[in-house]
Amino acid sequence: MQNLLDLEPAALAHWFAERGEKPFRARQVCRWVHQRFAADIGAMSDLAKPLRASLAGAAEIRAPAVLRDTTAGDGTRKWLLDAGNGNAVEAVYIPEDDRGTLCISSQAGCALDCAFCSTGRQGFNRNLTTGEIVGQLWHANRTLLQDNIGAPWVQAGRAPITNVVMMGMGEPLANFDNVVPALRTFLDDNAYGLSRRRVTLSTSGLVPWIDRLRDECPVALAVSLHAPSDALRDRLVPINRKHPLASLMAACVRYLERAPRDFVTFEYVMLDGVNDQPEHVAALIALVRDVPCKLNLIPFNPFPGSGFATSPRERVRGFANALQDAGIVTTIRKTRGDDIDAACGQLAGQVHDRTKHRLAARIPLAAR
Ligand code: SAH
Ligand code: SF4
Repeated sequence: MQNLLDLEPAALAHWFAERGEKPFRARQVCRWVHQRFAADIGAMSDLAKPLRASLAGAAEIRAPAVLRDTTAGDGTRKWLLDAGNGNAVEAVYIPEDDRGTLCISSQAGCALDCAFCSTGRQGFNRNLTTGEIVGQLWHANRTLLQDNIGAPWVQAGRAPITNVVMMGMGEPLANFDNVVPALRTFLDDNAYGLSRRRVTLSTSGLVPWIDRLRDECPVALAVSLHAPSDALRDRLVPINRKHPLASLMAACVRYLERAPRDFVTFEYVMLDGVNDQPEHVAALIALVRDVPCKLNLIPFNPFPGSGFATSPRERVRGFANALQDAGIVTTIRKTRGDDIDAACGQLAGQVHDRTKHRLAARIPLAAR
């Protein structure tokens, strides 16, 4: 059975052509799946009955199974999704006044082993397929629509999810071949039709793949910086040993030639006594001076055995003020969904291990 969620619009057109069907039929089906969130080919009422019957015998619409569905007091909602073999990933819906953001996952686990990240601690399990990535958006839209959420943009006829951030579990650029078709589906007018500015990919800094993304599918870019020197970043974000800061900064500048926004967002997790001192802010200002950017400071979300603590609120504010004074637009990420463990870096792990049932709700910043 072909899962239609695995096919980006061009691939769906190709699949239809191979079956001797007209291209406009593929566009019709694309809209049924990604704009009306149909789960059943039989429901596609404007397709001729014989076509529906032949499609139903060859294709299905299959999103990852929901293991748990939790809503926080602030409206943040997370879905724990089955990734097979006892693994799970999460997608988080973050409603704000004028938009609905979905934070999605790209891998079960992650191989990059950043020192402060619970996903990294789990190690790498596997890449999600395109269908599993797109399925997170499909499922969130479908469910929120069915639940009749009263969001003003939905009342105005838009889909519940207006912005997507790839800031859940996994390193999206390490799963490039499945992530890019998913991004194209998010952007396509016959599918989700999101503008490139409303789709943000966050990477820990896989330099060659930043260049490929720029060439193949530029969307808004967030880079997880977390340290202003190679010595410290080598320790916190080990991929830095392979792609050090100078080459990362150069890749960011190259990316901006084609990016939908004229800045890169740098994420910087605030770790008490580790990267939050006056010398760090001074080095950070010097580092990013030549890169058009915004800084997003993330309060560290602790997890058992992490070995790190959250910087005190005052220190985070002082750090932000120093950046602002140097002319760098800086925001402090507000934590959402605390009561359901939906904070950054607290990711779902093995389904059978309750202590790892935590996840990342990454508040969109590039989407502002
Ligand atoms: N792998 C990608 C995207 C997923 S992580 C990346 O690293 O960019 C999304 C963001 O959450 C990253 O900036 C990551 O460094 C941050 N993060 C990870 N663990 C965290 C934690 N415990 N507290 C706060 N932020 C965390
Ligand atoms: Fe992977 Fe990102 Fe976590 Fe690093 S911060 S281990 S790249 S998910």
